[in-house]
Amino acid sequence: MAVEAENEAPVDGDPVGLDAAASFIAVDDRMRATDGIWAMGDVTGKAMFTHVALHQSAIVAAALLGVDHPPASYHAVPRVTFTDPEVAAVGISEAAARAAGHDIVVVVKQLSATFRGWLHRAGHGIIKLVAERGTGTLLGATVVGPGCGEVLGMLTLAVHARLPLSAMRNMIYAFPTFHGGVGEAIGASGRGLSTVIDPEYRGHEVLDSA
Ligand SMILES: Cc1cc2nc3c(=O)[nH]c(=O)nc-3n(C[C@H](O)[C@H](O)[C@H](O)COP(=O)(O)OP(=O)(O)OC[C@H]3O[C@@H](n4cnc5c(N)ncnc54)[C@H](O)[C@@H]3O)c2cc1C
Repeated sequence: MAVEAENEAPVDGDPVGLDAAASFIAVDDRMRATDGIWAMGDVTGKAMFTHVALHQSAIVAAALLGVDHPPASYHAVPRVTFTDPEVAAVGISEAAARAAGHDIVVVVKQLSATFRGWLHRAGHGIIKLVAERGTGTLLGATVVGPGCGEVLGMLTLAVHARLPLSAMRNMIYAFPTFHGGVGEAIGASGRGLSTVIDPEYRGHEVLDSA
């Protein structure tokens, strides 16, 4: 959706100064397409989700009202596919991280090897975390399992806040929960061993903890 401010003079050339042949309306991190025109939602070609449109809409509203607002940020966009089991992801994937040249570590934990996954007989779930080597900053995560769109909440916060795995390793996870499986995957205190895979890891086989 595009919003045009009143009393703004059209830019020379195209009636409103936009590229009519473009597939999307290019915007800056303040959702400005051109002078006096803001765009938000799918039409911006960022990430086509309702929650992204809402994120952008707050920025446009702030601009129109003349109040301060942080710029748009897309490094921690959550995605949930509402299948059974749910597939939930946030941030950057392993492949995208490698393609972008990140030096990463990848942690994979079979959900059935977590306390709650075992109790739940969750046969097809995984927890996968992608973190920057060295800083341990969580760059992305994928969780597959029952209700994992909810587990994604804590992982979205971690990616959004650029938390290191060390911070997540030292927190207390409720027992027995699906999100507690994240703690088990990274070897949080009292939660077993982590499966930390070196940068040469390319496969997607599930590597269980020892
Ligand atoms: C089947 C499906 C399932 C989805 N499920 C999810 C989900 O689970 N979670 C999620 O986050 N996102 C989901 N999405 C994506 C989500 O719907 C969009 O990202 C979101 O609606 C984008 O909001 P928007 O305002 O940009 O566009 P829209 O919601 O598409 O709104 C655009 C509006 O503009 C109107 N319009 C178009 N052209 C004109 C015109 N020329 N003049 C006047 N009006 C016009 C349209 O009729 C529409 O009402 C789903 C999309 C689809 C198609």
